[in-house]
Order: sequence, then structure tokens, then C-alpha cells
Amino acid sequence: MHFRPELSWEFLPADEIALKTVRALRNHVKHAKECSPFYRSYLDDVLGLDIQSLDDYSKLPFTDRTQLMGQSSQFLGVNPVYIVETVLTTGTAGKPMPFIFTASDLERITFSYALSMHSVGMSAVDRVLILSSLDECAMDGMALYRGTLLTQANVLRAGVCSKNPLAAVNYLQLFKPTVLIGAPSVVRRVALECAKNGYDTTASSVQKIIGTGESLLGRDLRLNPLAEELERVWGAKVYSLYSATELAVSYCTSECGAGAHAHPELVYTEIVDEAGNVLPDGEVGELVATPLGVEGVPLVRFRTGDITFKVPGSCTCGRNSVRIGPILGRREQRIILNGVAMYSHLLTGALDSIEEIKDHLTIIEQDGSGKDTVSIHIAAVPAALEKTAHAIKAATGMHIPLLISNVPTIHALRGDVGKKGAILDKRQKARPAAAPVSTVQQ
Ligand SMILES: [Zn+2]
Repeated sequence: MHFRPELSWEFLPADEIALKTVRALRNHVKHAKECSPFYRSYLDDVLGLDIQSLDDYSKLPFTDRTQLMGQSSQFLGVNPVYIVETVLTTGTAGKPMPFIFTASDLERITFSYALSMHSVGMSAVDRVLILSSLDECAMDGMALYRGTLLTQANVLRAGVCSKNPLAAVNYLQLFKPTVLIGAPSVVRRVALECAKNGYDTTASSVQKIIGTGESLLGRDLRLNPLAEELERVWGAKVYSLYSATELAVSYCTSECGAGAHAHPELVYTEIVDEAGNVLPDGEVGELVATPLGVEGVPLVRFRTGDITFKVPGSCTCGRNSVRIGPILGRREQRIILNGVAMYSHLLTGALDSIEEIKDHLTIIEQDGSGKDTVSIHIAAVPAALEKTAHAIKAATGMHIPLLISNVPTIHALRGDVGKKGAILDKRQKARPAAAPVSTVQQ
């Protein structure tokens, strides 16, 4: 495959991308109905020609992981003899689910990842150290490797080096990479190992870090504390890449860093609220994506369960493709507080990031008037209050009262809830499912 990123749709004017997308979606629906037994029946009353606008497309039903898991053979769009790779993805309730690709699907994934790497300014002159595993049945390491090859950069596959962290330090010294790719926590661990062994990461050859699988931006698109730490300790610029196996595409921040660009010839991106309504740019909801040009398992309006938003406006990098914000949480992590959604891991992540906090517990209750109230008990010195309040506001957009406490009191309050950092939602017994629903985070 000859890589010509400059020909990508993302550099076309937005209205031209929209026209091409409508045509691609029309063909996609026609193709899905022709080759997939599931869609033949699921979209029985829909004709490809019915799709004359993006609005028409938004009327089609969603596909979710439960459907995919229950009837995976019905989704197959090709004769199984054309399957060349099987990976495992996380299905519903964390159960692994096999997912397959044809040779053409692999080329498509490769192209997507290479476009993402091009968007961070990676090219044939780069030396790339991949700190992600090619094994363990996942798509990501394979896709990162193939994408890097397509950019013609020089690649060294280090893996996560979890059993031998010192190996990563040796690879850095031997290979002198200009780009590191891997989960931010792995890149951080390598930096710590370097520090232990007297290797100065700020003076290293590394200029760019592409973080995968963990968010590196906040709701305001600014670098989060982990990303700031990585930039500081490596003296490098950090980028964030998002992918989902079922979509077999990557979204990645460009050199501007303002949201992760989709590749419009490979995926159509929507954000929807709990009721399935398409939300305008800037509003937080679930990422629904339609991967285009897939042979093996074509999908229509796939609900990823990941919560994010489309970044409004245009990007100064010259790409006119949709940009998504960081993944703020999973659908199942959503807690509704007085009609506003909050994502539990954002709150606990913010609390865990404050070194002075020895333990914490968030208690959600309902007062006599039916209003939800939240309080956070932290075992910390009073001097940590301001810093903690700031971290919570930055992560969740909410002001939540903080109460200084101590570890024994928090243990007693937690009762049998278990591990550190639990959220105790006392409303659940009183009000099992009647919470008002809104996906707008304030
Ligand atoms: Zn951009």
C-alpha cells in the first residue's frame, strides 16, 4: 500500500466531506444488508437509497455490544475463509469476545493508524519505540506496529517491558527513539525506571509521545496531570490516540492537540444522548460510530459505550474532520446527580491524583425534598483542601463539598463497601431507576 496522507478526506472542505459521507453511508447500508444476515433482517425496511442526508442516517437503529456478542456469526460479512486475523475484545460485562478481520480490513486499520501518526507529524525520519504488546490477542499493538511501518518510520517493538523494566532503559539508550508509543502509565513507568538508573529522560532523544488507551486531556482539552507529567519528565510533546476494536479505526490529536481527529473516509462519528438523540457539537454523550469500508464485520451506528463530545469549530492544523474530546467515562460509570451526569472514574481519578489524600469516600444521598446531595470525605491535612477542590472541579466540572476526616472514620463510614475510593450511593435502595436523565455535564 502506498501511503498518501495528503489525499485523505480530512483535508477537504467540511461541506465536501459531508457530501462524500452521505454517499459512503448510503453504500455502507446497502453493503451491510447484502452481506450480513443480521442487517438483512435488522434493516429490513431500510433501503440504501433512503439515505439522502446525515439526518436520514440518524434515524437508523443502533447496534450495541450485546447484539454483537449474542449473534456474532450473523454479523459476518464474508465467507470465513477470508478471515486472516482474530483478536479478542472486551464484550459485555468484561467477557472477551472474538472479533475478526479480513486482509482488506487489516489494510484499512493500518491506513487509519498511519493517518493518525501523520497527524502528530510522524514521518519516515522518525525512530519509534512501541511500548505496547503485539501479543495478548489485542488489536492495538498490531495496529500500532502496522501503522508505523506504513509511515516508513524505523520501528523497535519493545512491548510493555513489565517483567524487565530495565530493558526499556536499554532500548532507549541503544535505539535513541524520537517517538514513544504506548499506554501513558507504561510510558510513565519507563520514565521512573530511567530515573532510578540515572538516565536523564529530559535530555533523551524522545520528542513525541503518543499515548494510547488512557485519556490525556481534560474536559477543557487541556493536558491532564498525567500528560503534564509526561511532557515534563520526557521534555516531549504528548498526543492522545483513541481506538475501539469493533470500529477498527483510530482517532488521534493532531499537532494542535485540540481533540482527536476522526478519519472521515473510514468512520462516521455521532454523539448521542441516553435516548439516542444526536447531540450538537460540544455536548457530552455516547460515541456512536459507523466504520466505513469494513469487510469482515460491517457495523451500522455502533454504540461504543464511551462518553465524549465533538469539539466545536475548526482545527488550525488544516484537517476538517470531526474531532472528539477525551473519553470522559463509560456509559455504565455515569451517575446522575440532580439531572446532570457525572462520571465516577473522573471523580475518583481526581481524588487519587492528590498525594496528600490517604483515603477518600464519596457519599451520595437524597434529602427530604428529593434533591441529590454529595459529600466527599477525605483523610488529608486541611492544607490539601484547595488543591483537591480544584482537581475535582477540573475533572468533573462540579463543586462538591469536601469534609476533612481520617482513615478510621472513613473505614467506618464505608462499612462493607470495600476498596479505597468507593462511591457510596445511598439513593439506590430508595430510588432504583427513576433518575432524570441528562447527558450534559456542567
Ligand atoms: Zn487538528
